[in-house]
Amino acid sequence: MEELTFLVKGSATKPYEVTFIKDGNSLTALCDCPAGQFGNSCKHRIAIMDGDATAISGRNADQASRIVEWLAGTDVEAALTEMRQAEKDPEKTKADVANLKKKLAKAMNS
Ligand SMILES: [Zn+2]
Repeated sequence: MEELTFLVKGSATKPYEVTFIKDGNSLTALCDCPAGQFGNSCKHRIAIMDGDATAISGRNADQASRIVEWLAGTDVEAALTEMRQAEKDPEKTKADVANLKKKLAKAMNS
């Protein structure tokens, strides 16, 4: 099992802590921002899973690329891809995207 924690600048003064735990084929992504604490999806985790290190304020920003590797083949990646496709598809309603965000949050929290 491997674990990486990043400090991410958010709307609060104190940076949020975003933690990724890789255990075999499973990836858990946790964030202590308000959305994350309520078990919802948040942009902090998604940005890092996209390999976007711009908001990381700690010294380990270069490790964000490892999360992209960890994501490959996990149910989190599948849920993220499904949500992205729904967002791009004009046929999909906002409700569908909202449901897929919940599914993504569930995948990240398990
Ligand atoms: Zn967050």
